[in-house]
Amino acid sequence: MRKQIAAANWKMNLTLAQGEKLMDEILATTFNMGANQQAIFAVPFPYLLTMQQKTVTQKNFFCAAQNCAAQKSGAYTGETSAEMLNSIRVEYVIIGHSERREYYNETDTILAKKVNIALENNVKPIFCCGEPLAIRETETQNVHIEEQLKAGLFHLSAAQIENFIIAYEPIWAIGTGRTASSAQAQEMHAHIRAVLSTKYGAAIADTISILYGGSVKAANAAEIFAEPDVDGGLVGGASLIPVEFTSIIQSLKK
Ligand code: PEP
Repeated sequence: MRKQIAAANWKMNLTLAQGEKLMDEILATTFNMGANQQAIFAVPFPYLLTMQQKTVTQKNFFCAAQNCAAQKSGAYTGETSAEMLNSIRVEYVIIGHSERREYYNETDTILAKKVNIALENNVKPIFCCGEPLAIRETETQNVHIEEQLKAGLFHLSAAQIENFIIAYEPIWAIGTGRTASSAQAQEMHAHIRAVLSTKYGAAIADTISILYGGSVKAANAAEIFAEPDVDGGLVGGASLIPVEFTSIIQSLKK
């Protein structure tokens, strides 16, 4: 069975002390997670080593960076390379979050480079795609998502794409309290899997975990995650509240 994943995106929130308290509270919970279930914490760069040391002893728990540089190394002040992430054994990196695309002008070309450099350094990308409200309103979201997937991923080989994580995050649902219905999520996730299977075949498309992101919380997680093509969630706001995120982890399919 595909991995079922609850991924927390702390974004630019919390001090180190607040982050440690949150992580310690979550890790103190008994989850009885299955072999196919994971919780991933995308924390701010300065906390990665501390949080990685907390999760490394916990089966099924991992850390992620929220971004990485498109370049290998060198004179890029303020950037963090995928090689650096790998050197502290960070397993995952979010690439292409809509906030990075919008506020930091990360184009499809830049994102494809980031995907490549992450894979070269054994850091697994959590690749985000999603449409703005204007696209949803004209019902052209399927084409929009297909274009993002083709531009960001279709240069990869089948071996590289296997066990990839994709997050579908409709921009109109991020941090807005407005959630896609479980039917809307399922429809898009099935579309994403169909797009992937045109390039890589159904068997490989079937191995790829597709997370839903956009105002997931304890109250709606189980319903959304129950959809057959939804393999968990990428969670912003609710991941900062221990009781919310523990419940979201507990809502993953077994
Ligand atoms: C996100 O930023 O990835 C996200 C889904 O945020 P929120 O859960 O707050 O909508």
